[in-house]
Amino acid sequence: DTGRDGFQWTKETGLQAGVPSLGVILPPSNLPSDDTANSDTFDVIVVGGGYTGLTAIRDLTLAGHKVLLVEARDRIGGRSWSSNIDGYPYEMGGTWVHWNQPFVWRELFRYGLSTKLEISMVTEGGLNKCFVDMGTRRVEMGHDKEDLLSESALTKYVDVDGHLARTVIPFPHDPLYNKEAVARYDAMTMADRLDEIADELTPVERNMLEQFLSITCGSSRFEDASFFEVLRWWALMNYNYTDFIALGLTYKLRAGQSALARSFFDEALATEKLRYAFDSPVSKIVDQGGVVEVTTTARDGSGTAATFRAHRVICTVPLNVLYKIDFSPPLAPLKTEASKLGHVNQVTKIHAELANPELRSVGAFSLGKLTYGFGDGTTPAGNTHMVAFGSSQAGRHLQPEEDMEETLRAWRRLIGRDDVDIRRVVFHNWHKDEFAQGAWEWLRPNMSLKYLDELRKRHGNVLFGSADWALGWRAFIDGAIEDGGRVAKEASDEIRALRRSNVVV
Ligand code: FAD
Repeated sequence: DTGRDGFQWTKETGLQAGVPSLGVILPPSNLPSDDTANSDTFDVIVVGGGYTGLTAIRDLTLAGHKVLLVEARDRIGGRSWSSNIDGYPYEMGGTWVHWNQPFVWRELFRYGLSTKLEISMVTEGGLNKCFVDMGTRRVEMGHDKEDLLSESALTKYVDVDGHLARTVIPFPHDPLYNKEAVARYDAMTMADRLDEIADELTPVERNMLEQFLSITCGSSRFEDASFFEVLRWWALMNYNYTDFIALGLTYKLRAGQSALARSFFDEALATEKLRYAFDSPVSKIVDQGGVVEVTTTARDGSGTAATFRAHRVICTVPLNVLYKIDFSPPLAPLKTEASKLGHVNQVTKIHAELANPELRSVGAFSLGKLTYGFGDGTTPAGNTHMVAFGSSQAGRHLQPEEDMEETLRAWRRLIGRDDVDIRRVVFHNWHKDEFAQGAWEWLRPNMSLKYLDELRKRHGNVLFGSADWALGWRAFIDGAIEDGGRVAKEASDEIRALRRSNVVV
């Protein structure tokens, strides 16, 4: 079904809002229309149906609890979803997974998807090259040389202690363990660290490193982004470049992320314990002690509100939009402050279908509005599918839906050819997404130590789960599943205790 999110452009149709996805849920609610359900008290209301919320509804319904999922969009998956165009998935958000990501791998195995992976980047057939846009000139090189230069540049960038940052983050799933070192590197911006090693980089290395780094921080300005976040990713990626590529950018689901999201949702639904309301942004959460009231506002502009009640609420809305919900009693000031400050990643993820099969094995670094891209697959029509990331760095911010001509020019600049035959463009502009206001989380300097522990804390009967404050793979699908499981267990244990004492029947 076609939902509201995402955009698609072809020469024939022009730009169209909304693309088909397996994640769209119709009809949008399974609540009884006679309104009686609204007077029910649920065991748990889960706000948000991304992977954190999906894990929570699945675990809670399997444990026998009566659950309501309230989601602002018309689909599940949140920041991880795939559009399905002519049977082919374009990943609009979270994409790449790996067996070293324990929580997501367990789910892929559980749902029979761990043997249904595909490799994004290939290095055989066609041009088999990497293009580096140096501004006044273009450098072409084989992928072996690309890897050598990228590895050497990235290694210089992260090696702050002569031990490849192992002393800074000795336990990647307990990243704040060495508080002194965290404080030091969290106070640094990504730009500060580039300045520190400037003399050690050749011009090509510097250029490639900057474009590579732009995909870690979602093309945000290096002056706004914490250097500690790079070290954290590096530690998670086994402290080496080869694993960085393997873990971060290589293995994706043949059926697309929405197929995995759907597996969670369908399993929860099969328990007959799940009610849901899509197109229902939550505007207010009032904790009255024994019961929490959750109020939604209809998305159609009618302003119609519904109020639901539960003994516990699990709120999974992303960091950058949490402050928009009116909490009573008010949230702890640090939580609100963190949300209003927000993380910096405002990337646009953008795909192109190109009638140029030789580009399948191409990678490209650019100083244009698209900073980094590579061959990501072959479409059913036999065309090359390339994926790229739109920059939000000063003066370079790409808003594809506002100017498709500029977007097509950015693609041509990235690839370095004016004759490239662009058949289709598909994208999600996360910067303009009202229910995320950003892409994967990338914190500003001095945010990690100050806010992360606070963000994980409960607020009365409201628990907070999110990839944005997970412990291990924070900002990844794996982190969402980790944190959804954490808060679901906590809520489940508490509902069981209430049932034992006859507070909940
Ligand atoms: P979300 O998925 O954001 O879910 C929160 C849900 O809350 C959303 O559905 C939202 O609509 C809903 N919501 C918001 N406000 C309200 C409200 N007021 N009322 C009701 N509902 C509301 N991770 C990887 O592991 N690998 C990758 O390759 C990768 N690439 C990425 C690329 C992009 C472009 C993006 C955007 C993310 C990427 N990530 C990747 C990160 C990963 O997608 C996220 O970390 C993860 O999906 C977040 O899950 P979540 O459930 O915590 O949050």
